[in-house]
Amino acid sequence: MAMATPAAGIPVHSAVPSTTESLSPIWHPSPNFGPRRDGLTPSLIVLHYTAMDSAQDALDRLCDPVHEVSAHYLIGVDGTFWQMVRERDRAWHAGAGEWHGQNDINSRSIGIELDNTGRHPFSEPQMNVLERLLRQIMHRWAIHPNGVIGHSDMAPGRKFDPGSRFDWLRLERNALAGRRGDPEGPRDAPVDQFRALARAAGFSADVDDETLLSAVRLRYRPWGKGPLRSADLAPLTKQT
Ligand SMILES: [Zn+2]
Repeated sequence: MAMATPAAGIPVHSAVPSTTESLSPIWHPSPNFGPRRDGLTPSLIVLHYTAMDSAQDALDRLCDPVHEVSAHYLIGVDGTFWQMVRERDRAWHAGAGEWHGQNDINSRSIGIELDNTGRHPFSEPQMNVLERLLRQIMHRWAIHPNGVIGHSDMAPGRKFDPGSRFDWLRLERNALAGRRGDPEGPRDAPVDQFRALARAAGFSADVDDETLLSAVRLRYRPWGKGPLRSADLAPLTKQT
């Protein structure tokens, strides 16, 4: 029997859940937000871990006016997720720092908190929701994969989340983060070249060599130890 052809513009339904189907967060408003400055709209998505013991603890803190912190979204270990600030508004998640020479990251970004202490892997339901949410936000605001960054990328030495357990490669493979460069990379590792490559990749904050190396390793090779090596430069080359 021939399959009926759907009329133009009507999506074909499938038993497989679509990765683009709409997600419905639990609306749990935070008072900690303001307007985006200078007419800015989101061009970045900043990923965080909560460093707290439970999603409920994080939710309480992110909605407490005393603490003056928030994020647009929080995703729990079991995939439950909450929205605390409208995407059009400026949540208070990034703080001081810069990326590609630009500051006021809060006015330029959407902030997503992941319920994780920083010491254990991120659960599959949580990663699954994160991926679906990223796709939707990236589509809504035309954000390039290179615009998906970690808090530690823009605040080296001050912030360490989403941390060494976060699976950046998974996001890269799914075009949800900028792909790292050639694993062969350069043969030598002069610090000047490292700093230039890191800056070109976005790591523009004014920090010392060691702090910069720690931040780059946290993102690309958290197992890396000791002095600068050519392997530290490789992920920063030929990024797309
Ligand atoms: Zn953070």
